[in-house]
Amino acid sequence: MDVVIRNANLADGQQGVDVAIEQGRIVAVGPRLAVQAGREVDADGDLLSTPFVDAHFHMDATLSYGLPRVNASGTLLEGIALWGELKPHLTQQALIERALQYCDWAVARGLLAIRSHVDICDDRLLAVEALLEVKRRVAPYLDLQLVAFPQDGVLRAPNALINLKRAIGMGFDVVGGIPHFERTMADGAESVRILCEYAADQGLMVDMHCDESDDPMSRHIETLAYQSNRLGLHGRVTGSHLTSMHSMDNYYVSKLLPLMREAGVNAIANPLINITLQGRHDSYPKRRGMTRVPELLAAGIPVAFGHDCVMDPWYSLGSGDMLEVAHMGLHVAQMTGQEAMRDCFRAVTSTPAAILGLQGYGVAPGCHADLVLLDAADPVEAIRLRAARRMVMRRGKIIAESPRAHARLSLPGRPDSVNFRLNR
Ligand SMILES: [Zn+2]
Repeated sequence: MDVVIRNANLADGQQGVDVAIEQGRIVAVGPRLAVQAGREVDADGDLLSTPFVDAHFHMDATLSYGLPRVNASGTLLEGIALWGELKPHLTQQALIERALQYCDWAVARGLLAIRSHVDICDDRLLAVEALLEVKRRVAPYLDLQLVAFPQDGVLRAPNALINLKRAIGMGFDVVGGIPHFERTMADGAESVRILCEYAADQGLMVDMHCDESDDPMSRHIETLAYQSNRLGLHGRVTGSHLTSMHSMDNYYVSKLLPLMREAGVNAIANPLINITLQGRHDSYPKRRGMTRVPELLAAGIPVAFGHDCVMDPWYSLGSGDMLEVAHMGLHVAQMTGQEAMRDCFRAVTSTPAAILGLQGYGVAPGCHADLVLLDAADPVEAIRLRAARRMVMRRGKIIAESPRAHARLSLPGRPDSVNFRLNR
């Protein structure tokens, strides 16, 4: 045996579990395994999880904050305009370096699979080539899935459909879209039809920025579900953001959710970004704007939380920490029950893994030995503490390690505590 991890807790509630690993795969899971290994890792009762998965990100824009200026209004639309100003100045080398830097951050935080939308509207396809190069370079340690994303609208921007097909031909994985940014509602619906038919024809998945708006009449998710159902794309179609649903009429939503379920459409909320960008045209009360996560889950629709942005024209913060994303999602959706909090952990692990179609993801014999050991006893504590990643493993090899969160306390009237276990 190459490695055995002893005395771990698993996300499903099992405790005191050993995990044996050979040739990059998990070969046994159980209490006190009688095996010898080249390396033993003592989990010491901490949570051993599958890696974090980010189902919605923009790696072509990441770490560009302040270039060429910052977003003064903080709105989605100024962000898109600002990205338009930046695009002519992008170089392939700078794109690659920023993306690789972000992937280093991701790996250090146990984030080993990312679906990134990449803007294909620039005819030079600089970002497309750059991200394909990044995907190739990070492949040994991170699964990068690339979405051909027509940021300026597949109908609104000249050449966008041609460029989208070029990107797919060069090796992109998923068909993107942005129906609410097309010129009219009718054009938005038409864009959904065109893109879904193309995906069905090519046997590809679909993931659209859909209804990222506070306008309750933005109902492109209905069209997306309709086309998914009509074209038999069940399980392969995802609506990202879906923020207009926050503002929709309750009666309409009660009809919409079963249609999404019937069509096998997945949902992705982006809590950090949605709570920052939505409601910007409101005075008070000010809408939160995130989609209806508990109601979607109750309707049987898979919901993942995405990071969306880190230090880019839309968002000035972020660090590649999916526990921070889950933490924000939990608060914004008021998912404070025990099971709801565990749903928030699943929304950054197993649910996005299923949406991306990752193979061999799990803590079970036969699965890839891709694992994260957290400085926490269970998923709820992991979210509460944004727990340190004691160990990150990919295919049986340790690729990142961090110390447990300790502090050195010197307080009058308190016992000397040079090795104080932070918040546990
Ligand atoms: Zn996005």
